[in-house]
Amino acid sequence: MAEQDFEERAAEKEQASIIKLSMQTLKMHYGLNPGKYREPVRSIGYQLGSELAKLLPQQEQDKVADVDDVVKGLAPYWMHYGIGEMYWVDKAEMLLAIQFCSDCLGRGYGAGYTICPFKEGLLEAVIKSKLRKNYHVEEVECCGTQATNCLFKIESILD
Ligand SMILES: [Zn+2]
Ligand SMILES: [Zn+2]
Repeated sequence: MAEQDFEERAAEKEQASIIKLSMQTLKMHYGLNPGKYREPVRSIGYQLGSELAKLLPQQEQDKVADVDDVVKGLAPYWMHYGIGEMYWVDKAEMLLAIQFCSDCLGRGYGAGYTICPFKEGLLEAVIKSKLRKNYHVEEVECCGTQATNCLFKIESILD
């Protein structure tokens, strides 16, 4: 990944700080298992993802044709700001991994369940906003389930 090509912009940088702070604060506040607050946590991720989708500049709308194009825009951002490394485990099956998650590191390893509803919501919002279609994102493996990465299954929803 061409890290050196990444161009910092103030609004994006601020959004990265807000995203990281929210992730860490939510995990600190609710502990590893947000329990009944799972949906609200997911919703906060979704809202910040919707804002991020508007900021990410490297993609003009007409050049974003599929989920892979969205990931190509999001992954360098995610890495540049130290939130984690995003890569396809299986592009055809739309299984996207995040490694070195800033919010999982040192916490939750082996909690026994997935602990990242925030990232689910955020990914879902960015993909939906960029493609203007309905998608559902679910975390299927997680640092919390002793996986080495968090793994997200992205599904297109026909409406
Ligand atoms: Zn996770
Ligand atoms: Zn993780």
